[in-house]
Amino acid sequence: AAAAAYPASMGENNARLVAVLTGAGVSTESGIPDYRGPQGVWRKNPGAERLVTYRAYMDDPEVRRESWRMRMTSPVWRAEPNAGHRALVDLERSGTPMRIITQNIDGLHQKAGSTPRKVLELHGTASTVVCTGCGDRGPMEGALARVEAGEADPPCLSCGGILKSATVMFGQALDSGTIQQAAKIARVCDLFLAVGTSLQVEPAASLCRVAVESGARLVIVNAEPTPYDALADQLIREPIGTALPGLVSEITDSA
Ligand code: NAD
Repeated sequence: AAAAAYPASMGENNARLVAVLTGAGVSTESGIPDYRGPQGVWRKNPGAERLVTYRAYMDDPEVRRESWRMRMTSPVWRAEPNAGHRALVDLERSGTPMRIITQNIDGLHQKAGSTPRKVLELHGTASTVVCTGCGDRGPMEGALARVEAGEADPPCLSCGGILKSATVMFGQALDSGTIQQAAKIARVCDLFLAVGTSLQVEPAASLCRVAVESGARLVIVNAEPTPYDALADQLIREPIGTALPGLVSEITDSA
């Protein structure tokens, strides 16, 4: 379906802000499976949810070993940004004030060229490891090299504690500063795009409600229905790689 035209005022005042909430669906066209889509990791292997559950990871060494094994072969390391990521770079470069709030941990927005300080990573990043004991952080690359060299569950080199990727697992709190910043962006934006997210993970999903209640227009770009569809001003069911460039052109053309 063609996207409806934005109000002429959308781009006239360059103080206006576009907020883009992205989810795993933005990266499926880069070869990274999502969790809940038709080809999603959890539809194919429901047990995989355990690998990203904090308590299971902390309590069960086998969960950690399995998690590291899976990480070694993750498509994230080889993935390249796709047309959806690039469309958001075009939106930024058009001069439209915008911020990306991503649930993704793959770093592909930044790899595509989005300015890192304009990308809020709600669920952390897979490119860093953090010690659950002393909080020490380091590059994921180093930890993976240790796994490859035979350490099935590499401990922290500073304190011997349990290492994990610097991503937010189920049962872990989000960074409060990051979620506050995201909520502020949702409150002050004029247009809120939710792209490639099933909107089933809180508090990310409820940012849609915050935006609408603060007067923003809500556009959802997702192949499948979401619990927030009824709140949306516009629903786009086309693949993101074709839908997002079109939507971005409309926004920038109306500027
Ligand atoms: P999700 O898997 O719950 O939902 C993704 C949605 O995107 C689905 O509804 C699916 O139908 C839709 N979708 C997939 N490909 C699409 C396409 N090409 N065009 C249009 N729609 C498409 O993802 P979520 O809402 O982001 O929640 C999953 C959580 O898991 C996130 O919080 C994230 O931290 C994590 N995760 C991240 C990655 C990543 O970084 N790439 C990948 C998997 C999971």
